[in-house]
Amino acid sequence: MKPVSMRTRLTLWFSCTVGVLLSLSGLVYILSTRSTLGDRALSELVEELGEIAREARQHQTKSAFLPEVTKRFYDHGVGSKSERVQYEFVVNDDRDRRVFKSSKVSSNLLEHLQARHGCEKKSLISMPDTEDGNLLACFDWIETEFGRLEIIVVTSAARLNRDVANLYRSVCLAVPVAFFLAGLVGYWISGRAMSPVTHLAEQAASLSINSLHRRVKTSNPHDEVGKLADRLNTLISGLQTAVGEIRRFTADASHELRTPLAVIRIEAELAMKRERTREEYQRSLRVILQQVERLIHLAGHMLDLSRSEAGISLASHELVDFSLSLCRIGDGVKALGQSQGITVTLDVEPELFVRGDRLRVEGVISNLLANAVKYTQNGGEVKVLCNSDGDSLLLCVEDNGIGISADHLPKIFDRFYRVESSRNSSTGGAGLGLSIVRAVVASLGGTIKVTSELGSGTVVRVNLPLAVLTAGEPEAAQEIDDCFVVPNAAG
Ligand code: ADP
Repeated sequence: MKPVSMRTRLTLWFSCTVGVLLSLSGLVYILSTRSTLGDRALSELVEELGEIAREARQHQTKSAFLPEVTKRFYDHGVGSKSERVQYEFVVNDDRDRRVFKSSKVSSNLLEHLQARHGCEKKSLISMPDTEDGNLLACFDWIETEFGRLEIIVVTSAARLNRDVANLYRSVCLAVPVAFFLAGLVGYWISGRAMSPVTHLAEQAASLSINSLHRRVKTSNPHDEVGKLADRLNTLISGLQTAVGEIRRFTADASHELRTPLAVIRIEAELAMKRERTREEYQRSLRVILQQVERLIHLAGHMLDLSRSEAGISLASHELVDFSLSLCRIGDGVKALGQSQGITVTLDVEPELFVRGDRLRVEGVISNLLANAVKYTQNGGEVKVLCNSDGDSLLLCVEDNGIGISADHLPKIFDRFYRVESSRNSSTGGAGLGLSIVRAVVASLGGTIKVTSELGSGTVVRVNLPLAVLTAGEPEAAQEIDDCFVVPNAAG
């Protein structure tokens, strides 16, 4: 089934609500007007009853009363010729003997009138299905000079019935007309109410991946549609950022992949150009192997990053002896530093454990230590400090190298971001190291902060939650060797 539009649904709701309300008010109107019409009919009967009672009370004897009542009430009607309402009267004495009856009172009607006993005096007694049609009657007892009399006044119910029928007809006609008009008004109102939403939907539909710089607009930014547009715009700008990042990532990734691939191709082409010696082939293969390793490394980093961005945790629950890993990697970095005239000192508190993937934890350590050495000049110094601070460990890697300027500092965690000077130098990174470090640290539940001053050096502080050891686990730390050196020891 085709889904019903919001406008149609609103119109239906509106029309149905108005329809129900109109029907209820119509019902109330019918009930109240019918009762008013009944009251009017009764008061007319009572008025006539009063007339004849007044006539009776004016006379001393029945014989004086009879000619007068016959003259006035034998054929008595009220109103113009066309609208004439005819009244019939019956007067009985207290022994139920007939004193007077008007011209059209039939024996059949008199029989029906016998049935009025039990009815309230001066109330509307309706007598359906008589030969004389639907009738209305009312009666009362009065005291006269010539005794107690019962007076009965009867009239046709035709006028009352006609008025009530007219009432029903007009209400039954008015309700559907009003329902139809409510539908038209509802359709118009819902069209007006929905037009900003329709306009918004049209604007949103015209957006594409290439026009994410555009924003949707509404006439009133403070109403519900305005707020929806605001949310939509936030979503679009998020999308724009994400798409921009994906494009930059793709461009940077292809750029980084192209260099080793080009080297591999050139090396292979050169090797194949002519017959080479065994040493020459080995040299070419070594170059190719280096580039393949670089590619594997790059692919691994990219995979880790996309996993972390997809919300796939990089952490495992392996118990990692952070102190031991730091010492082992530190030893290697010390040797590297020595070869470049850089002093690397380590001050590591033993037996600091974290839970995570050991290779990734060691990746964090080696990235930070390698960066510190990589961006420090000959004669410089790198200090590595690691100690516990309550439930967490603090790793601080400080160098007095080239430092990072304030405009580059916020971007160094971006994928493939390299400060221009590093990009042009032969330091060889791809700009993925720190983004991986941040992703791993976050997956371990830690934080990383970098402070730096151009020309003075850089300090990286990593905070990681310490592992809570269960029975038997600390034995894994037995291997701690003699690398815990006093501060300022050069290595
Ligand atoms: P790379 O592989 O280029 O080192 P990273 O993500 O590890 O990539 O670092 C990003 C950029 O941050 C580097 O290109 C470098 O310019 C800067 N950087 C990182 N660590 C340091 C540091 N200790 N001293 C100076 N600059 C640094």
